Amino acid sequence: MRKLDTIIIGAGIAGLSAAARIARHGETVVLERESAPGYHSSGRSATFCHFGIGGGLVHKLTAISKTAFAAPPEGDHPPLARRMAALFIARADEMEKLDTLEATTLAHSPGARRIEGEALRDIVPVLRTGADGFGAGILDPDAYKLDSDAMLQANIRALREAGGSLVTDAPVNAIRRGGEDWIVDTPGESYAAKRIVNAAGSWADVIAEMAGVAPLGLQPLRRTIIVIRPPEGIDVSGWPFTKTVSEEGFYMLPEGSGRLLASPQDETPSEPCDAQPDEETVALAAWRVEQATDIEIRRIEHKWSGLRTFAPDKNPVAGYAPDAPGFFWLAGQGGFGLQTSPAMAMAAEALATGLHWPEELAAHGISPETLSAKRFTA
Ligand SMILES: Cc1cc2nc3c(=O)[nH]c(=O)nc-3n(C[C@H](O)[C@H](O)[C@H](O)COP(=O)(O)OP(=O)(O)OC[C@H]3O[C@@H](n4cnc5c(N)ncnc54)[C@H](O)[C@@H]3O)c2cc1C
Repeated sequence: MRKLDTIIIGAGIAGLSAAARIARHGETVVLERESAPGYHSSGRSATFCHFGIGGGLVHKLTAISKTAFAAPPEGDHPPLARRMAALFIARADEMEKLDTLEATTLAHSPGARRIEGEALRDIVPVLRTGADGFGAGILDPDAYKLDSDAMLQANIRALREAGGSLVTDAPVNAIRRGGEDWIVDTPGESYAAKRIVNAAGSWADVIAEMAGVAPLGLQPLRRTIIVIRPPEGIDVSGWPFTKTVSEEGFYMLPEGSGRLLASPQDETPSEPCDAQPDEETVALAAWRVEQATDIEIRRIEHKWSGLRTFAPDKNPVAGYAPDAPGFFWLAGQGGFGLQTSPAMAMAAEALATGLHWPEELAAHGISPETLSAKRFTA
């Protein structure tokens, strides 16, 4: 039995970013079922940071986190992010949604501006405009394309520098009380600590039930991505992340190899699992891109799915379980877990270790209660 101060379950962005900070306060181990960190949601994301997702709390957490993405890389390590504009587009009957999004974006990103009609094609030349197409958009020049691998690796480095460790191929299969400790069993080793952090992503409710803690009612929703080749001779590298304001639309963005990555923004309820794309959703992705643009898709070069896991109120959760001392929830990162991870890790460190509540969070009106698991059990 290995005795520790903190056991963190799950080596996705939530678990690792919190681990990098919590490890500074005592011996910490991160247990990951798979053979590599980021195998599930954190490695399957579109990795973008913008204000076109979530409500007020998510926007505030994103605004705080952007400081970390804008910072120059540490030493000779790759940057966590690079600037890429975001363009939100609306059809004639969606202008109210665009107005709301304009106000939200401007509140956090003062350089954002309205783009009307045909001018959308100066930015993304394939977009359909006019009566059957898009009528206006909001261009936010200060959005970021994240690098999930660089983010995971930076957090693993910080975890190790603080004396902590990551154990892969370590599926947690039992959790029980042993005096004041939680005892966590994996096939290779058992671990004991007063504090466990449940950062198991789509499996966070499963982990809670394993520990005899009331689940939160988390819902994993599957999302699908396709990779396509842009029209011959068109360089897409300067295109923004382009997203419809309507959820029944799509988003697309350039990816490193000169190709385009696109999603129909599907949200199919799922059990926690190794999510795989289905043919119908892949076809829907291609159809929505073709309907909205002049792109003719001949071949889908690559496709994948992942789970976005939401709490019942669609806001993230960080805090101790009201019904189990030492059991810390870090869950419900939905479709914004990468872009909010620096701020969420800051909150998790303060709440888990009893540190003073960070000024950055307080200044945005975020309190421990805002993130608490108690909101589902009261
Ligand atoms: C298609 C798609 C697009 C997305 N786009 C964006 C985006 O543009 N921007 C953004 O910010 N976010 C985006 N997201 C959301 C983002 O990916 C997630 O919010 C984030 O990755 C969640 O991180 P996590 O650490 O909670 O979960 P995960 O990365 O899934 O990590 C949880 C880990 O826990 C481990 N685990 C579970 N059970 C056990 C056990 N019993 N024992 C040991 N380990 C266990 C799992 O193996 C897993 O590695 C997207 C997601 C998807 C699927």
